[in-house]
Amino acid sequence: MSGRGIFISEVGPRDGLQSIKSIMPTEAKKAWVSAAAAAGVPEIEVGSFVPAHILPQLADTAEIVAHARTIPGLNVAVLVPNFKGAQAAIAAGAHKITIPLSVSETHSLRNVRRSHAQMLDEVRQIAELIRSLPAGQRPHFEGGLSTAFGCTLEGVVPEQRVVELAVALMEAGCDEVGLSDTTGYGNPAQVRSLTKAVWSAVGRDKLTGIHLHNTRGQGLANALAALDVGLTTLDASLAGLGGCPFAPGASGNIVTEDLVFMLEAMGLKTGIDIDALFATRELLAQALPDEPLYGLTPLSGLPKGFEPATRK
Ligand code: ZN
Repeated sequence: MSGRGIFISEVGPRDGLQSIKSIMPTEAKKAWVSAAAAAGVPEIEVGSFVPAHILPQLADTAEIVAHARTIPGLNVAVLVPNFKGAQAAIAAGAHKITIPLSVSETHSLRNVRRSHAQMLDEVRQIAELIRSLPAGQRPHFEGGLSTAFGCTLEGVVPEQRVVELAVALMEAGCDEVGLSDTTGYGNPAQVRSLTKAVWSAVGRDKLTGIHLHNTRGQGLANALAALDVGLTTLDASLAGLGGCPFAPGASGNIVTEDLVFMLEAMGLKTGIDIDALFATRELLAQALPDEPLYGLTPLSGLPKGFEPATRK
């Protein structure tokens, strides 16, 4: 896989911030987004269009989208729980909209208070709204299969159920589906097997990305399994900030800094300048002084003589 490019989607401003109590000031979020983009991060999930009383941390998402849209070349992604959220995301000008569909229906009811059938109705309405827009203004629409590797509430999630819902999301009008290990239950063998199973049902080009959590220390191993099987987009969170407030015990995403180090050391270009990424982490440390930051590469430093693939 030498020389191949890997697409990293930074989800810290959404997944990271939604899981912590501290509210990051809007200006600090803008500075984070700007610094990450300047470091070469190609896509940032900058927030979520959920009611402010549910996630006050993300109440300024429209303003963050507007700011992110001014950064040339940056793909601006957001999460939406429903049609209303998608309307707001489109009005704000997001390039990519992801709606999560929990494969565990219990988690879906807890997380967005909707059954699978209700969520698929929302997806159909959103797809219709997107189709009604002029061709150049349609955001990319992804259905995120959350709790795809297991659920803290239901336990084992059958692979066949993930496949069925991937098909249902595509039939409802998504452009693509994504696999999400919301709870950090996944292992590398499962990543390979589930990816292949979903590919066989929806086609290889309709699943390119995966969202991993490091809850049980499997994050980088799972990321490597994803790359080996042929996925090309990896979600990660600066300093491993993250979790899910409705999946008890679920903690941080895979750490962007460690992931970029692994890929660049393997000769895979991320387009991200790792020193600039470390500097971005400092902004986070200053803006959220009470939050634990994860990741070992920034603490240990880069190996002597290390040459990132992106600079070669
Ligand atoms: Zn997550």
